Amino acid sequence: MNLLSLISSCLFLSLTLISIPLNSAQCIDQPYPTQPNIKLASKCLLVKKQPMKNVNYQVQNDTNMFVIQFNCEIKDITRCAKVKSSFEEAGLIISSTLILNTPILINAKFREMESAGILGAAGPYRTMPMKDDDGFERLYPQSLVKQFQLSVHPEFAPVDIIADFNSLIPFWFEGDPPITSQQIGFLELIIHELMHGLGFASSWNVYLDNFPEAATPEIVGLTTGTTLPDLNAKFVFNGFQESAFDKYLILLPENKLISSYANELNKFADFGTTYENAFDFLNQFVVSPQFLVAKEIFSSSISHVDSLTYTNTSEFLMTFSQEKGRTLNDNIRIGGNYAGGAIGHKLRLILESLGYATKESPNYKSPSPPDLPFNEDLNSSSWNNFSYKFYHTFVVGITIIMINYL
Ligand SMILES: [Zn+2]
Repeated sequence: MNLLSLISSCLFLSLTLISIPLNSAQCIDQPYPTQPNIKLASKCLLVKKQPMKNVNYQVQNDTNMFVIQFNCEIKDITRCAKVKSSFEEAGLIISSTLILNTPILINAKFREMESAGILGAAGPYRTMPMKDDDGFERLYPQSLVKQFQLSVHPEFAPVDIIADFNSLIPFWFEGDPPITSQQIGFLELIIHELMHGLGFASSWNVYLDNFPEAATPEIVGLTTGTTLPDLNAKFVFNGFQESAFDKYLILLPENKLISSYANELNKFADFGTTYENAFDFLNQFVVSPQFLVAKEIFSSSISHVDSLTYTNTSEFLMTFSQEKGRTLNDNIRIGGNYAGGAIGHKLRLILESLGYATKESPNYKSPSPPDLPFNEDLNSSSWNNFSYKFYHTFVVGITIIMINYL
């Protein structure tokens, strides 16, 4: 075994190879929000959908469009009720900013975790490839794809957002006695995490475990898991895939769209190129010019806004860490009592850029379904292509690469 193959054997020690057939969409399911590195690939064939103009579901201004499936696994019934009502309050707050036409189903759990150091997390259960107007396929969260009400879409999972929070944390709930310096405001945490679930998340991350100095978007066909890869399985390169959020990211100070780096990475090989196995693919990738591009991106944290710039402003919500000892209302007040409350002006623009409709920008901006065969006959593929308004995602701080979730 030569040195390079030794390196690459280590490289994928924690990666599971899942073979995705050529030209097949890869949906990614992340059933464990506190372990976002565990991902399950699913083929997610296109399915036909009846247009869902809810005849019986009259959406009012004050309708909570988030449906909570709540499993409270502690004995303290009062605390369970506070957690549940926090989820409902968070749902109402987001529903009042976004125009949602299709309910979003959250599966939420509150339980004693193995460590008192884990807050918990939430995220999309499934992300699915959709074709953007620049020709690239990016991974969209199911919550958003549902709102587009397309006649054909990748198959949906039964749940949109999965949430899991730790009962060992000294959370502060709305209506509790004044918050102490060690408590964490639960409502703010939930809204922050639901934003990730709605798509405020980059797919750029460190996927090459033994090369933590290089970041890439999601590698189609390689998903992290707990078992060793099958050394005998061929690996078919189907590209590096960004998330919807990445479309608008700009790397500073270069002032270049981060998608242009993804485009460079995808010049590594033609889609459909077959390698002997995952290691063979990696052996070739780490000596390619594209690997230098991957190293260039490392050092940017791109699933949160810059703490130095946005803490204590109306855009506090999506900074990486939440201030202890402050309630959501405290932060809104310190940020200048922005009329939109927890969801700042820039955050709303980002949500609109992703495709969500709001009162200020009431049209959804829908991508198209991916170019794939589907499992039912359809008459045409005349998808609606809305033109995107282009809002630059605002300044992203240069920090270290971090896991996407609090
Ligand atoms: Zn976060």
